[in-house]
Amino acid sequence: MVPRHRTPSIWLPPDDALVEAGAGGERLVAMIRLGYYLTMSLVPISMLLVTPNAPPESWISFYWGIFSVLLSLGLLWAAHRRVYIWGLKYLTFLYDILVITAIIVMVAVTGRPVVAANSQIIWAVYLLIIVMTSVRFDLRVCLFTGFACILAYSAAVAWIASTWDLRAYASSGYANFSWTIQSGRLIMMLVATALSIGIIVRCRRLIFVSGTDRLTGIGNRTYFDEQISAEISRTNRRGGVMSLGFLDLDHFKHFNDKWGHSFGDDVLCAFAKVLEKESRAEDVIARWGGEEFVLLMPGTKKEEAGRHLERIKEALARVQLKGVGDMRLTLSGGVAEYPKDGDQAKAVIAVADHRMLLAKYKGRDQIVLAS
Ligand code: GH3
Ligand code: MG
Ligand code: MG
Repeated sequence: MVPRHRTPSIWLPPDDALVEAGAGGERLVAMIRLGYYLTMSLVPISMLLVTPNAPPESWISFYWGIFSVLLSLGLLWAAHRRVYIWGLKYLTFLYDILVITAIIVMVAVTGRPVVAANSQIIWAVYLLIIVMTSVRFDLRVCLFTGFACILAYSAAVAWIASTWDLRAYASSGYANFSWTIQSGRLIMMLVATALSIGIIVRCRRLIFVSGTDRLTGIGNRTYFDEQISAEISRTNRRGGVMSLGFLDLDHFKHFNDKWGHSFGDDVLCAFAKVLEKESRAEDVIARWGGEEFVLLMPGTKKEEAGRHLERIKEALARVQLKGVGDMRLTLSGGVAEYPKDGDQAKAVIAVADHRMLLAKYKGRDQIVLAS
């Protein structure tokens, strides 16, 4: 019975507004990834061009670079076309971790284990990968990537330290191998993960606040606009219907004029509570503006939606207002069904609004389902 707007749990998948923002983030990550792999491919390409007998690792890096660039192009295309593949957001970060870990391993096996373990640049890429998860706005991806980076890097360094006697390579121009420095790097990765989590939590909070009506605490117009677009896309994808109820309190101005605006505010809050209590978890309720509220009912036909609004009307009539005698609250409502009454959000809202005005015209305190 608790509307989705009230449950900004950090462990659940992001809500639609964040999914939308996260999709933008995915495109950004895809572009950065493409730029990164393009630049990385330049190193083996230039090696192959200037060195007559290039070492085999240059060829491996070259083919790997080409593969990564093509893969990044595919991911960028998928991000632009909004192609949904389950688990893709985890797999793409996993691929990035795999590539950088493979580079460490390759540098080590080609005779430079201290460079592989001590390089200042290679390990910093893990930090970039972790920070990039923050634009995905999904805590689960962030935690997964953070711990995968820590695991992959510690495994690579532990393998290098157990395979080579690193003291023998101390003169290679890099500092001596040190477990203290390596532990410091792992702590930095933990800090980067914590920072990314902090960024995601703050963004979630900001989106929650920007979609909340300050007076009643339910969703506002911004929230509703996002939800109706998302719900229409969902209905188109899965088939089915949804209904929209447009509700307006009757003679509300009278309450303000007679008992003051603070009392009017209490009436609006009482109405929002009725809507919250009477709605199903999948329903979307929001304050459209003033004393007008909207109720989106996914998977619900117009007739069933009409019966639901009648129940809300009855619950509203039972609300006891202190100090105003037996004054009864009434509402007028209009219902429209998607896609029957309109094939776009704007059209469905206009039909529901028009039917609400019809209800006013017909004498108020009623729900109208047909024009
Ligand atoms: P009708 O039955 O035709 O809908 O009449 P009404 O009086 O409900 O509608 P009208 O549009 O004439 O008045 C709406 C009033 O709602 C006017 C405005 O001052 C008041 N209002 C809008 N927002 C708020 C608010 O946040 N708090 C309070 N207290 N009043 C508000
Ligand atoms: Mg009105
Ligand atoms: Mg009104």
